[in-house]
Amino acid sequence: MTLNIQRQVLLTNRNTLRLPTRAEYLVDVDSEAQIVEALSYARQRRWPVTVLGGGSNSVLAQDLAGLVICVGTRGIDVTGERVVAAAGEPWDNLVRQTIKAGLFGLENLTLIPGLVGAAPIQNIGAYGVELAAMVETVHAIDMDTGQALVLSNLDCQFGYRDSIFKQALRQRVIITQVCLQLRRDFLPQLDYADLQRWQVLQAPENITAEQVSRAVAEIRQKKLPDPAMVGNVGSFFKNPQIDADLWHQLRQDFPGLPAREQADGSWKLSAAWLIDALGLKGLKVGDAAVSDQHALVLVNMGKATGQDVLGLARQVQQQVMNRFNLPLEIEPVIVP
Ligand SMILES: Cc1cc2nc3c(=O)[nH]c(=O)nc-3n(C[C@H](O)[C@H](O)[C@H](O)COP(=O)(O)OP(=O)(O)OC[C@H]3O[C@@H](n4cnc5c(N)ncnc54)[C@H](O)[C@@H]3O)c2cc1C
Repeated sequence: MTLNIQRQVLLTNRNTLRLPTRAEYLVDVDSEAQIVEALSYARQRRWPVTVLGGGSNSVLAQDLAGLVICVGTRGIDVTGERVVAAAGEPWDNLVRQTIKAGLFGLENLTLIPGLVGAAPIQNIGAYGVELAAMVETVHAIDMDTGQALVLSNLDCQFGYRDSIFKQALRQRVIITQVCLQLRRDFLPQLDYADLQRWQVLQAPENITAEQVSRAVAEIRQKKLPDPAMVGNVGSFFKNPQIDADLWHQLRQDFPGLPAREQADGSWKLSAAWLIDALGLKGLKVGDAAVSDQHALVLVNMGKATGQDVLGLARQVQQQVMNRFNLPLEIEPVIVP
């Protein structure tokens, strides 16, 4: 056996919320063969399996029975405009390497924490760009059978912070590689307000992907609490998507409420605005708090437990429901 399986491992440094959850068993794998071996080892012992990447979109709510598999496979392969990245590659590394190689499309997704393998799970997105627009195929291993699978873009059923991996294939596959189709011509996507403000200060004909990537990094660093300083998983709630009739009604009652029209005619509301309007920044349950810096982010002030975080999330959801009659959906994965 090539696996180094550890017992009773504290996961505080393996999740960006810094929850002190324990894994009964944990293995770091750095090849596809090791992934298959780890799955087979767990199957023989009837252990449940949990997959962990960078832990930046996971709320490790309670200690994990069975085996936690941490995917650390590395490698980025470029052929023409096609890029194949291994699941354990840090996402931001992929963004930087593709820009360096003169391949464009990922610049607005600069500095999103986590690893490549988790990126399709919630179809990561930022500043008007979603991963789904670039995905050709996702390669995975079936957790029950150990068989390799290839899913096309359509098979992935991508939606807003959603995909088949959060639905029918939740906890059923381990993603091993993501294959992207990027472009050689650079088409800046600058229609988000923060980027428009930045664009006004640039000479339009000279904008480069490196500059956009740097601008996105600067905007993010100013807006979002840094998980290295205070535990968090970025946006804790999705922006509610509502139909046009409800939007027209809501904007009369709440004139300042920001919203963006979507391609299908629905409207996406700012969940941060809803939470901020209720004065919930700073609200605490135990040691979990709504960030003072960004209302959409729940932070660990030091000793928060999974139950503190989930209790706080419920209070925010309840207050938004009471005032606006809108459900707020949690964005990260609650594990288990
Ligand atoms: C400060 C901050 C800012 C953020 N900003 C954004 C943003 O702008 N846009 C955005 O979309 N997200 C954002 N996120 C969320 C997060 O970074 C992304 O969702 C990221 O893709 C998660 O990657 P990860 O490796 O850390 O996932 P993890 O938390 O390790 O895993 C997330 C889920 O995917 C599963 N998983 C992980 N790897 C695999 C695999 N190889 N195969 C199968 N399942 C797997 C896990 O079991 C879990 O269910 C932010 C987070 C933080 C902390």
